[in-house]
Amino acid sequence: MTVWRDAALTGWGRALRASTRAARPERANQLIEALDAAGPSLCLYGAGRSYGDAALNSGGATVITSRLDRVLAFDEETGEIEVEPGAAIGGLLRDFGPRGWAPPVAPGTGFVTVAGAIANDVHGKNHHADGSFGQHVTQITLRTGGGETLTLQPEDEAFRATVGGVGLTGAILSARLRMRPIAGDKAFVRERRMPSLDAFIEAFTESDRRYSVGWVDAAATGATLGRGILEEGESTGEPSRERARRARAIPFDAPPFLLSASVVRAFNAAYYARIPKDGRTRVRPLSAFLFPLDALADWNRLYGKRGFHQFQCVVPPDATESLRAILAEAAGSGLASPLAVLKRLGPGSAGMLSFPMEGWTLTVDFPAAQASADLIGRLGATALDAGGRVYLAKDALLPPSAVPRMHPELDAFRAVCDRLDPEGRMTSDMARRLRIRRAADG
Ligand SMILES: Cc1cc2nc3c(=O)[nH]c(=O)nc-3n(C[C@H](O)[C@H](O)[C@H](O)COP(=O)(O)OP(=O)(O)OC[C@H]3O[C@@H](n4cnc5c(N)ncnc54)[C@H](O)[C@@H]3O)c2cc1C
Repeated sequence: MTVWRDAALTGWGRALRASTRAARPERANQLIEALDAAGPSLCLYGAGRSYGDAALNSGGATVITSRLDRVLAFDEETGEIEVEPGAAIGGLLRDFGPRGWAPPVAPGTGFVTVAGAIANDVHGKNHHADGSFGQHVTQITLRTGGGETLTLQPEDEAFRATVGGVGLTGAILSARLRMRPIAGDKAFVRERRMPSLDAFIEAFTESDRRYSVGWVDAAATGATLGRGILEEGESTGEPSRERARRARAIPFDAPPFLLSASVVRAFNAAYYARIPKDGRTRVRPLSAFLFPLDALADWNRLYGKRGFHQFQCVVPPDATESLRAILAEAAGSGLASPLAVLKRLGPGSAGMLSFPMEGWTLTVDFPAAQASADLIGRLGATALDAGGRVYLAKDALLPPSAVPRMHPELDAFRAVCDRLDPEGRMTSDMARRLRIRRAADG
């Protein structure tokens, strides 16, 4: 029997309290039962690692799929794997890394579920080389909002709507994907100082490594604007002296002065200077390189009780002046936290509403405050004016008018949703806020 419970009383996470009902099935048949009995307003929830409201459903029902995390099949010859929706990306690396296989694409945390990775068509540090997560998915089994079970292939419209479709076509019941062969579950990592944005762009463009990612000093201005550290990596079988450690917890909500402009400037300067001028190389566990924040449980408490907003945009390859303007405005605001990342994206994307497009993606965390929200609005507008996008997985602030500007296939997406879910059951706070489904959410 399905366990539908009063969401406020479950203790399954603060984020779920706004839902009226929640279910966390542990078996595939319970999942179907829960979906069928969910009522007219239904949202899927994976590991809740989206920063905004993509997996929240105030006043409606939420089905959590993270407990459905079994591996259903694995072909050692080809690396093709079939999993339940809640299988975690980090768990796949832990279990299959020692056998020479890694998830094809890994976002910055290993807690993300396969269904969540599909629903946001996530990208990793290897996007320029390997494309987005959805490009490695070979089959999706979907329970549509209308109650049908479909087996979708990459050439199907409904597949392209489900990948990056923020859960609005239905519930992913299972997925097949191609794992990537790796030389070993360690990473050979090279770190180099980049003294300016121009240096970063040049180095990213020339890099021939599979993984590349930049930490940016988002407080640096003037000649040092956009300086940071470029990390490049390759998988290796060499031993690492670094052990995979248990996550250390942040025991309290940090006081606001820790994120004041002067403390952030000083922290960033020290963080930049810790890399020797001529760089350094080391061998690290691949998981530690791919999922740096997972070493710190509850890291969000560093932002104090009020929390934070993460802003992530992408701008086209030649829009470097817009990228510079975004960085300059963030740095000049005195609001940017030390968490800021620059990556190069290749052209790969697999869904109608996918975020990835070729260009430069910048991510910056800002402590939650009206001034940050206003700033993020301006940064997003600059990115959109440059022909870029803001990432839905990170957003809680965009206006509805941004969605058709960012996603030219929005009408086709809406048509698929209307076909698969004619009564408009599939929804979320984000879907309503951004009127993604228009008629149904209006
Ligand atoms: C520290 C950190 C680093 C990150 N780094 C990156 C990065 O490098 N690249 C990147 O692309 N993203 C990154 N992200 C964002 C993250 O990858 C996405 O938000 C991802 O979608 C979260 O997956 P989840 O399993 O937590 O799903 P949730 O956040 O719970 O849900 C995400 C979406 O998936 C839908 N969904 C969940 N389960 C199902 C299901 N069974 N069927 C259908 N729809 C479903 C939800 O409705 C929602 O729309 C990062 C997030 C964090 C916290």
